[in-house]
Amino acid sequence: MPSTRRKIVAGNWKMNLDRAAAEALASAVAARQAEAGGVELVLCPPGVYLAAVGGALKLSGGRSPSGVAMGGQNMHDKVSGAFTGEVAPPMLVDLGCRYVILGHSERRTLFGETDAAVNVKTKAALAAGLTPIVCVGESLAEREEGRTQAVVSAQVNGSLAGLPPADLERVVVAYEPVWAIGTGKVATPAQAQEVHALIRGLLAAMASPDVAGRVRIQYGGSVKPDNAADLASQPDIDGALVGGASLKADDFLGIAAAFC
Ligand code: PEP
Repeated sequence: MPSTRRKIVAGNWKMNLDRAAAEALASAVAARQAEAGGVELVLCPPGVYLAAVGGALKLSGGRSPSGVAMGGQNMHDKVSGAFTGEVAPPMLVDLGCRYVILGHSERRTLFGETDAAVNVKTKAALAAGLTPIVCVGESLAEREEGRTQAVVSAQVNGSLAGLPPADLERVVVAYEPVWAIGTGKVATPAQAQEVHALIRGLLAAMASPDVAGRVRIQYGGSVKPDNAADLASQPDIDGALVGGASLKADDFLGIAAAFC
């Protein structure tokens, strides 16, 4: 039976664009949202441009007339306090975010985020009413050493530890092999499907097959309009987390269209 999971394609703009370009890109995606069919679209601009993008999307209470949603790229796990330079979960909600990317490989490798830290943030995001997009993925060395399953299992189990089933099914998991991010080397559909199936099995063991069957698992890593359809054809790939190609409306919408 085909899955009833609504496909979700999110754009991680990382530390790119200026305010005018961010507003223009958000407006273009919103205006052309119908090209994505029923696929849910999420834009994750740099934190300082969330308000501008929220304005371009005409967000009210996190909802926009076009249906395009907004997400943060990171957040702190506390709701307020003396944490210079950080952003609290309720602040993201206040600006209209419904999503937040957590544990992106750049956060893990460049900023030392551990599974334990991602786990605390995941719980904080859920408590604030945000949907966390929790990223996992192995490095090239780990894949070549045959450790992909062990690494991804540890990341999933650690990052999602202790979540009750009702919370677990609100999470989006993004499988992003580190060797595919920003490199132009996309995982083959079979490689991606194998790890997505592994992740769904881990979620089933944590909660139940029913809950695992409702969790959306995105693939990320050099997704482009010309490779998205093959990935989308896999039974456990429920969308994409897109970096570079999300900076052009044509490419982002072309990827989304492949998932509808
Ligand atoms: C990412 O950073 O999450 C990502 C998938 O980047 P890219 O699409 O550029 O590989």
